[in-house]
Amino acid sequence: MEKKYLCQTCHQYNFIIIEDSYCSETVDLIEDCQTCCNPNTISYTVENNKIEYFEVIKTY
Ligand SMILES: [Zn+2]
Repeated sequence: MEKKYLCQTCHQYNFIIIEDSYCSETVDLIEDCQTCCNPNTISYTVENNKIEYFEVIKTY
């Protein structure tokens, strides 16, 4: 599934692909913004194909 998130540097929307999962597992990844190229750290948890937790943290 596709998830929209806000870049913490330029506040533009980006999209990431989230993998569906039945087991609860926290995923941390770093994505570069498509607009300003600054990195964002994204943490999410998927449980029963639903996003239970989603957070974007500014990365320096
Ligand atoms: Zn940005």
